[in-house]
Amino acid sequence: MSILSDTLLPARAPYSATLKKGQVMRIIDLESQQAVDALFYNAQDVTERYSAQDTLAAQAAAGRKFYLETGSVLLSNEGRPMVRIIADSCGFHDTCAGACSCESNTVRFGHETRFMHACRENFLAELGKYGLGKRDLVSNVNFFMNVPIRPNGELTVDDGVSEPGGYVELQAEMDVLVLISNCPQVNNPCNGFRPTPIQIIISDR
Ligand SMILES: [Zn+2]
Repeated sequence: MSILSDTLLPARAPYSATLKKGQVMRIIDLESQQAVDALFYNAQDVTERYSAQDTLAAQAAAGRKFYLETGSVLLSNEGRPMVRIIADSCGFHDTCAGACSCESNTVRFGHETRFMHACRENFLAELGKYGLGKRDLVSNVNFFMNVPIRPNGELTVDDGVSEPGGYVELQAEMDVLVLISNCPQVNNPCNGFRPTPIQIIISDR
């Protein structure tokens, strides 16, 4: 194994990198309870991008659970494998609750949160580097985020369960552009009300 990059991503910050097919990205939740929002695009043709709907439908057909875990394959809107989760210390990751935004914050937490930083702003800033924008924002993965389903079917965001040093490893099934927002949310417990740094290591296997 050779390490190609090793990045300490500060709390609240955006990040992006292109993984060549076969390369592995390890995301480390250094201090615990940090939600890490992620988007995926085919690096050769960015109109092909991650689809939570296709991914969860395929998981259900294969008898897997509602959450992403080791062995889960993240599919594109064309039904092709983009990334495979090959290791995971957390046990489950959400792909239904979406990314926080200034707009949703005002609805959920009050108008005074309008100017707080949010994952959507991180994604837009990072997408701009690749000539992409609002129309390219699609469903995302929330690594390390705990989103239980209530008996009435409602999703809730609960305290994160990942431990300090918790990790997830993603192996690229195609050349893939990965965008990450180290979630800045402080109005719900997805980051333990205290956003913290993460580490991102890319390696060849
Ligand atoms: Zn967020």
